[in-house]
Amino acid sequence: MKKFIDENFLLKSKTAQDLYYGYAKAMPIIDYHNHLSPEQIANDINFENITQAWLYGDHYKWRAMRANGVPEKYITGDATDYEKFEHWAATVPFTLRNPLFHWTHLELQRYFDINKILSPETAKEIYDECSARLKTPEYSVKNLLRKMNVKALCTTDDPIDSLEFHKKIIEDGFEIKVLPAFRPDKAMNVDDVAVFNAYVNKLQEVSNILIASFDDYLQALKSRHDFFHEMGCCVSDHGLEQIYSADYNEAEIKNIFRKLTASESISQPENIKFKSAMLVIFAQWDHEKNWVQQYHLGALRNNNTRALKTLGADTGWDSIGDFSQGKQLSKFLDKLDTTNQLAKTILYNLNPADNELIATMTGNFNDGSVAGKIQFGSGWWFMDQKDGMTKQINALSNMGLLSKFVGMLTDSRSFMSYPRHEYFRRILCNLFGEEIENGELPDNQEWVGKIIEDICYNNAREYFRF
Ligand SMILES: [Zn+2]
Repeated sequence: MKKFIDENFLLKSKTAQDLYYGYAKAMPIIDYHNHLSPEQIANDINFENITQAWLYGDHYKWRAMRANGVPEKYITGDATDYEKFEHWAATVPFTLRNPLFHWTHLELQRYFDINKILSPETAKEIYDECSARLKTPEYSVKNLLRKMNVKALCTTDDPIDSLEFHKKIIEDGFEIKVLPAFRPDKAMNVDDVAVFNAYVNKLQEVSNILIASFDDYLQALKSRHDFFHEMGCCVSDHGLEQIYSADYNEAEIKNIFRKLTASESISQPENIKFKSAMLVIFAQWDHEKNWVQQYHLGALRNNNTRALKTLGADTGWDSIGDFSQGKQLSKFLDKLDTTNQLAKTILYNLNPADNELIATMTGNFNDGSVAGKIQFGSGWWFMDQKDGMTKQINALSNMGLLSKFVGMLTDSRSFMSYPRHEYFRRILCNLFGEEIENGELPDNQEWVGKIIEDICYNNAREYFRF
């Protein structure tokens, strides 16, 4: 029997172990999409205790605690940090087979050298030890990133964000690149007219451009896109149920914008036309600047109205949706390709039923300009676990070129989530190792090892050119 999370965790064969230790382990990390706070990095904060590092903002853990019957007071409520940790520790033994169980213990091992299982029995000593270390300079957030050999990361930022903290990070000479990413979801979401108009007003202030027409609106947004570019940004990101690709003409979109800013209601077809137009415009700007555009597709968000009212969005009430992805996505990519305005693109899919659809869609628009121009993004959110990653890797292998994959990203709000790159690398090496041992791949570790290094780091470095 193997020991729990020992040095050969997930590496079932000798070849897998050789590949991981010989090639994958030492590669640096490019975390090209996450939700870390640039303010916390700029101020190089220390967490006061492990609850702040682990449980503030981690809705994965919150969902598990709720499923375990923990009252909200001890999850997002006014209980003390230690009480919250106690309830998390009491939940952990029941998370076995959920990725949280592996992540929790990998994080304890990698950041704190703690090999114990978190449970009510070990809660107090683990809380005390982790919290004491988190307060030391060695555990400032910049040092947490250094400890994991991160070379570059991209945060997720709204066009109206000042990027003041990104600026401070550069001015302070932090050697790890912390770049913004342009996420204009709010600039195209017209489901709530009042919310949209409040956004237009904020954009007007931030851009110093008076917005009286759709042309002004685009000029203001473009000025932000330009500003992000000056700040080193070279990726955009969109969180959408599905791609919108309705037909429209300029006069229609101008009229829809006029209606919106006059607080008139718009029809559902007008809503979709507006979103379709904005997606194309953003994509054209991304292409002009040679950015990488990312589309996170398929989440069904805010399912619980009561929780949305009391706790707000992104607090753990989202699920996998069953939106129709293929036809609109194809039409959108084709439209951009036809006018030679298709930027490098990463498509992330939340519904595993669509893995093969997405894997085959990427192959339709590779044009020989860049290897792996259209990417099938790594297993994401509910798919960010052994089974989901394996399924994504297999679909990509079967229908595209795994060797050109830009690899793993954390997509996380937590500074402690970097062992997920290790988790991915072990799964990857295990798959290659198994096929070498089965005689399905040649026993040429140098060749396979080079491809593993590419997927772990080199492909992302070439693709993003940070
Ligand atoms: Zn994300």
